[in-house]
Amino acid sequence: MKNYFDVLVIGSGIAGLTTAKRLREKNLSVAIIEFYQWGGTTPNHGSTPKKYLLSAVETKQAVEGHLGKGFDTVPEINWQQLMAFKNKQIADTSKVIQQDLAERGITTIYGGAKFKDATTVTVDGVDYHGEKIILATGARPRELEIEGKEYLQYSSHFLNAESLPSSITIIGAGIIAFAITNIASVIGDQVHVLQHNHRALAAFDQELVGDLIDQLRQRGVDYHFDNTIKKVEKLKDDLFKVTTEEGLTFETNVIYCVAGRIPNVENLALEKAGITYGPHGVAVNEYLQSTNPNVYAIGDSNDSTAPKLTNYAEFQGNYVADLILSEKIQPIEYPIASMSVFSNPKIAQTGVFVNDALKEPNIYSIEEIDMHHWLNYHRSNEPIAKAKIVIRKADQQIVGVTSLSNEADLFINYFTLLLKMKMTKQELRETILAYPSLASDFSKIF
Ligand SMILES: Cc1cc2nc3c(=O)[nH]c(=O)nc-3n(C[C@H](O)[C@H](O)[C@H](O)COP(=O)(O)OP(=O)(O)OC[C@H]3O[C@@H](n4cnc5c(N)ncnc54)[C@H](O)[C@@H]3O)c2cc1C
Repeated sequence: MKNYFDVLVIGSGIAGLTTAKRLREKNLSVAIIEFYQWGGTTPNHGSTPKKYLLSAVETKQAVEGHLGKGFDTVPEINWQQLMAFKNKQIADTSKVIQQDLAERGITTIYGGAKFKDATTVTVDGVDYHGEKIILATGARPRELEIEGKEYLQYSSHFLNAESLPSSITIIGAGIIAFAITNIASVIGDQVHVLQHNHRALAAFDQELVGDLIDQLRQRGVDYHFDNTIKKVEKLKDDLFKVTTEEGLTFETNVIYCVAGRIPNVENLALEKAGITYGPHGVAVNEYLQSTNPNVYAIGDSNDSTAPKLTNYAEFQGNYVADLILSEKIQPIEYPIASMSVFSNPKIAQTGVFVNDALKEPNIYSIEEIDMHHWLNYHRSNEPIAKAKIVIRKADQQIVGVTSLSNEADLFINYFTLLLKMKMTKQELRETILAYPSLASDFSKIF
């Protein structure tokens, strides 16, 4: 029958797309439901537009590093031009993704999905039945219940801002907040960051995070730790007064609230399908299966311990596809984890994180390397380039790396491959890598 599918996917972000395409390749009948932009957060209002904006910021900073060393002046970023370029590059994304799905034979349904019963989902009054249903509804910015909350803007406003004023305030100090703070710090004259506690980027080594914050402070970012926003008052159209619980007050032109994301789960009538959920998302077992055994929840919408990032959403999408195709019946197991904060410098980590290694001093030792005088960093006058190497004491194997430099994301990705392949020093010696390059530095570390 027309509205009966082997698999119904709700949400067309990276998680839902990954599962839908994999299952369709095996000739299952698949429909995917989306109520906003096809492709979800990543390509439309997440890392892709952010990366376009970051390119100009990185270019400006590269010139800054050569001031008096090949360049006499540093060009200003023309934000409107940059925004126009970014908009042009992603303008057709949603349309192209929908077309691609249709060409693959996946039925695309536009509208908001709600459960009718355990196997039926309703969209605009039409019922759709799925033998299996995949919840991949993602997350949205957390809103704060404060006086003047109507004056707060969010990450997608920042990524689409027609202009950036001279004083910008960011609430939050997580991965997304750092990326936005970093871009703002190169455009605005004054950037305030409010963080309710004294920790930023809690998953990362706090010493290197401190070094990153020092770099941002030197670029005019005013970090106000242990300050919880209490109210925002509008003084003029483009001027607001911020007051914190702790009594700090200042004036600013715009406030972006980047204080975490919450799962899109409460408007799906999940209770009609026997699906348990809470403030952190849909409850799932070790197979990403909800309390309704025919419904899986993947990506940002589930309450699993995995970081809420694109690479994990994609991994979970592939895992559930394997599970449905019976290619894998093991509980989900995450491979060597790597993640990066896209600031300048970047901080990235892979394998055993320094924070975890510090808790087990009998098992791990940590070696610190200052790399800023190495050719790769010195040639571009990078102010800081460091790495912390986690070594397993028993066999002296490198099992984790955290790095802070403009190239940390690439550096860490190379390491992820080395760690995954369990490459030894001897094997590295037997590998000829282009010299001089980031990868050829590995012989100094191993
Ligand atoms: C500004 C920003 C920058 C980021 N940068 C990075 C980065 O650099 N690296 C990284 O790894 N991660 C990054 N992330 C996080 C990353 O974007 C998410 O982890 C990822 O998008 C999660 O994918 P998903 O498929 O679970 O959800 P989403 O991509 O959010 O997709 C969910 C989809 O479901 C749809 N939907 C929701 N409810 C319904 C419904 N009832 N009916 C129909 N459709 C529905 C939504 O419209 C949406 O399209 C960033 C996020 C943001 C906001």
